[in-house]
This record gives sequence, C-alpha cells and structure tokens, in this order.
Amino acid sequence: MAPTEPTLMPRGDAIAPPAAEAVAPGSWLLRTLRRWFDTGVAVEIDAAREDHIDWLRAVPFVALHLACIGVLWVGVSPSALGVAGALYAVRMFALTGFYHRYFSHRSFRTSRGVQFVFALIGASCVQRGPLWWAAHHRNHHRHADTTRDPHSPGLYGFLWSHAGWFLTPRNFRTDLSRVPDLAKFPELRVLDRYDTLVPVLLALALYALGVLLQHVAPGLGTSGGQMLIWGFFVSTVVLFHATVTINSLAHRYGMRRYDTHDDSRNNVWLALLTFGEGWHNNHHFFPGSSRQGFRWWEIDITWYGLKLMAMLGLVQGLKPVPAWVLSKGRN
Ligand SMILES: [Zn+2]
Ligand SMILES: [Zn+2]
Repeated sequence: MAPTEPTLMPRGDAIAPPAAEAVAPGSWLLRTLRRWFDTGVAVEIDAAREDHIDWLRAVPFVALHLACIGVLWVGVSPSALGVAGALYAVRMFALTGFYHRYFSHRSFRTSRGVQFVFALIGASCVQRGPLWWAAHHRNHHRHADTTRDPHSPGLYGFLWSHAGWFLTPRNFRTDLSRVPDLAKFPELRVLDRYDTLVPVLLALALYALGVLLQHVAPGLGTSGGQMLIWGFFVSTVVLFHATVTINSLAHRYGMRRYDTHDDSRNNVWLALLTFGEGWHNNHHFFPGSSRQGFRWWEIDITWYGLKLMAMLGLVQGLKPVPAWVLSKGRN
C-alpha cells in the first residue's frame, strides 16, 4: 500500500515547473484519468498541493498491490513462479544496468538498438519512463539528503522515501532539462510519455501465455489468471519494493567506506536483492563507474551482466573503478 505520511517540510525547487503546456479540454477529472495513460496531459495543480500525494493519480499504484491478493483465487505452480522470478531478474537488470548505470550515469556506451530494447524492458517495470527515472535520479545525486532531495529518509522518513515522494504532483513531471542527452531520442520520449503502455502489453502477453499453456501443456497446472497475477502483479510489486529500498534503506543501514556528503551506506543484503545497487556509499562517492561493488567480494550481479554484454559486443566502454578511488576507501 502507498503511504499516508504527509509532508509539510519544504522540498525546495528541485524540479523546475513544466514548460507552458496547453491545458487539455475536458473536466479536471477526465484529464486526470487520461494522465494514467498519457503523462503529457496537463492539469492545473493547486500550488499548495504540489508536495502532497495525488490520490487519484495514485490509484493504479494502489491497485497494482491489491491485485496481488488474486493469488488466493488463481493458485500457484512452478511455471508461474519461474516466470515471476525470471521477470524479476531480467527487469531488475534492466533497471540497474540501464535505467541507473546507463541512462542516469552514462557509465558505458551502447547502440541505439540496445538502448531501446533495455528502455523497453525498463518501462515494463512500472517505474515510469527512462527520462523520468534518470532525471529524478540525477537530481538525487546532486542534492542527496538535502531538502532538495525528494526521497531522503533522514529528512522525510521511511515511508515517504520508499513510496510517497513520487506520488506528488511536483515529482510526477519529467524535467527534461536534466536529461537533454536522452530527450533527443524520440523513441525514448514516446516511452516516457505513454509509460503505462508497455506494462499493459506485458500483462496481456502473460495472460495469453497462461491461456496457451493451459491448453497445450495442462500438466503445468497454470492458467491465464495465474500467469497474470504471479508473472505481472506479484513480480512487479516485489521488483518495485526491492528497487526503492535503495532510496529508503541504503541511506540508513549499512557501512560507510567513504565520507560522502550524504547518508549513503554499503549494505550486502540490499546489494544481493538489487543486483549490486546496495553498494550505495561506493556509488555516491564515485557514480561514474559502471561497477558498484568495488572489492572482489562485493557481489555486483549487474556488473557481471554488463561484462558479459561487453564480451558479446553489445555494450562498450565500461568504466572501471579508478585506483585512487579504491585507495581512498577505509576498508
Ligand atoms: Zn542515493
Ligand atoms: Zn546513481
């Protein structure tokens, strides 16, 4: 469930106001509902509500969680669990390797085709489009744990940093001025604007897969509803909560190897859960590296995946950790 923790603290002006957009015709309610599918639809926002949760806009996010209760009706099977696990792994890699280390930090190069494929997989995670994600993340690094950081747990508490901040009107927008290098690609702008399209297509495909398997391989014991609930809803909700632990927990719990100007921590459990992102203090100290586990024993599955992709010629110019960075660390 989304949190209810309100905030009365100033959030600063981290995100610039949107460029002058023509307010779409139709009632406010209709426009707000249209924004579930088209984030380009402009609505009037009461300035006093900018930093409060927009509950109407948040309905799909809450519904995503409630849909998981469907497991009580559809049952479970090894094939449904396998698909849910595989989609967690592939999509976590797309988020960490591409939404984070590529789109947000440009820590390696790739072709436009590979860029699009991973933007597409990232878009299926229901964590908005690549431009929105990268713009907010760059903002986080710039102002980490200050009032201009929208998800500092030290300032705003666990719930807000975990699953509150992105439900506000202020943080709903994509500030294109932070991502001009990405906004020049029209295909990325389309994914960003219609950010529910890919998740809906994935959900439909999973339902169809379940129906197909029920007929051609009834021994698997699966169904359309089961693949939909486990493969899409459960997998996506777990993926979401794992991802945002980096905002809520990795700025609270763990070791600090570097004296960064924020509260970032290195946490092995979060690193395992998020394929390497839990080495967050390393990352805040030197965000330009493609690698976040700096020591050989700091498991960083995303780094191994990127190395494999480099061997296959799919990505180039992976940025290693410089020797001076390694020597500056405390342990
Ligand atoms: Zn951080
Ligand atoms: Zn980062």
